[in-house]
Amino acid sequence: MKIVIAIDGYSSCGKSTLAKQLAAKLGYKYVDTGAMYRAVTLYFLRFQIDLFHPEQIENALNQIQLTFEINASTNTQDILLNGENIENEIRVNPRVASMVSDVSAISDVRKFLVKQQKEMGAAKGIVMDGRDIGTVVFPDAELKLFVTADPLIRANRRLSELQEKGQNTTLEEVLANLEKRDHIDSTRADSPLKQADDAIVIDNSHLTREEQLEKVLQLVNQKLLSANL
Ligand code: C5P
Repeated sequence: MKIVIAIDGYSSCGKSTLAKQLAAKLGYKYVDTGAMYRAVTLYFLRFQIDLFHPEQIENALNQIQLTFEINASTNTQDILLNGENIENEIRVNPRVASMVSDVSAISDVRKFLVKQQKEMGAAKGIVMDGRDIGTVVFPDAELKLFVTADPLIRANRRLSELQEKGQNTTLEEVLANLEKRDHIDSTRADSPLKQADDAIVIDNSHLTREEQLEKVLQLVNQKLLSANL
């Protein structure tokens, strides 16, 4: 028997790193739902979709097919938008980062993606990370984590990631983007980012990746034991 692990939390707090490590360790599927919202945002940018025009949005969503494929060099999943690998572009394009939270606040976009996410987890054995996984996508998940870290620490980690990818940006810009996204994500009407009542908080400000994984694996084992799975 396998369980569903839902990981939510603020921007750039290491959710995806943790989710990938857990999935690899447990032999579970991993789904990065942020990549799905970023992919839709990229499509809207490319086709200049008006976010205040519901018909344009509906037509655009009808044209979008999202799939994942294993990247042999990183051994993780890349996202494809209508067959095109856009994994790198959605991470480094600053216009995607600045628009994604506005796109994610649109209910039709959420309905479109949440339906696909629920289907992906129907067979369990999945680690999914995002903002509404424990509250909306899998309210019955066996293990829910809410990950957080000090904003400045998160901004510094994100800055290093972007610099490694060759992006020229500053700590101030990165911090401003994180804070803006966190604000929009936590205050939107539809599925705001919030801790599920039964989620366990992991503050990783002062934890290494290994320490965090160790802590969470203990929680997974407790869940498996208590559920007798
Ligand atoms: O996880 P990541 O930072 O890539 O997510 C990008 C954006 O996608 C978030 O800031 C949020 O606006 C949106 N998102 C969401 N719900 C999710 C995952 C991401 O609204 N489940």
